[in-house]
Amino acid sequence: MANVTFASITKQFGTVKAVDDVSFELADGEFVCLLGPSGCGKTTTLRMIAGLEQPTSGRISIGGEDVTDAKPKERDIGMVFQDYALFPHMTIEANIAYPLKVRGVGARERAARAAEVAASLQIDQLLARRPGQISGGQQQRTSLARAVVHKPRVYLFDEPLSNLDAKLRLEARSFLKHLQRELGVTSIYVTHDQAEAMALADRVAVMDKGRIVQIGPPLEVYHRPATTFVANFLGSPPMNLLPVRLEGDAFHAGPLRVDARGFADRLRGVAEGSELTLGLRPEHLRLGGEGDEWTVPGHVYAVEPLGPESLVTLRVGEGLVTARLFGDEAPQVTGDARFAFDPKNLHLFGADGRRIQVP
Ligand code: ATP
Repeated sequence: MANVTFASITKQFGTVKAVDDVSFELADGEFVCLLGPSGCGKTTTLRMIAGLEQPTSGRISIGGEDVTDAKPKERDIGMVFQDYALFPHMTIEANIAYPLKVRGVGARERAARAAEVAASLQIDQLLARRPGQISGGQQQRTSLARAVVHKPRVYLFDEPLSNLDAKLRLEARSFLKHLQRELGVTSIYVTHDQAEAMALADRVAVMDKGRIVQIGPPLEVYHRPATTFVANFLGSPPMNLLPVRLEGDAFHAGPLRVDARGFADRLRGVAEGSELTLGLRPEHLRLGGEGDEWTVPGHVYAVEPLGPESLVTLRVGEGLVTARLFGDEAPQVTGDARFAFDPKNLHLFGADGRRIQVP
């Protein structure tokens, strides 16, 4: 069993609290992505699990065994960090096979396993070269291959695909997803790419300023974001957030007026005059007309055709609101226009940025 427990972990660097009282538990075989902006504490969290950084307080255990004070090599962890740390004097093949060599696997099997993983990551043409003779993206894939060539108790990944171009990145992502299903190794994966987190994770933990703001299955975090921060971090483009004031039976913001009568359940206990935020995902907006009851009116700012879909952005008061419209043809809209939406898709956040739930 290789469940990982992170109990009330804090890491302080001088006056900076890089990780602030974080607790979570991964089940054996679970894949969790730590997602958040630069500097939110993702790498520090990973380094503490690897044993490369000592927590200021709190305990870490792997497989039920407290490893807080254990050395990195006693933890049986496979790591892929941003700096690839390849052995410069060894061939790519020897680099990839290294974890097998230190575990006493024979030369023939080492070569076969290295070749197999290298082929999956499209670096099998490079096995005879040395790290100095391949590109940064190829080095990153070599580092990934070296980590996954054997089966440790836990994998730790820190932005392992960050140096790959868009196409290779998608291919390597599919490879990782496939590998995860095949090997079932408990994994913690750091990224600031929300699509990568959504695609790979059993659960996504969204971090901000050293804390986990929300942890849950990707679609739950996507459809029920706990805060405006989470709502704005997931989705491409992210959720539209409109600051409004509750007045009478409507939400108001400049010329925008959205009927609030359908939200009595959620607005119970919310005072008249409260500053709130309305959230609408781009895919929940469509072009509307006078006959639509729930609309956001504005002025066309940009139309971006993307092939199977188009992004249409309206200027609404001081802000911009973007819709993802599906269909091969980009809509021909100019001047004043309005987006329509179904009220069941409207997210409501309070003045503190927290989601307002039906009680
Ligand atoms: P990125 O996505 O940019 O890699 P991150 O979320 O991984 O960011 P961390 O590297 O964990 O963030 O850093 C969290 C905070 O701790 C940052 O404010 C960072 O400046 C600080 N920090 C990290 N390592 C150290 C260190 N060795 N000494 C001092 N401060 C540090």
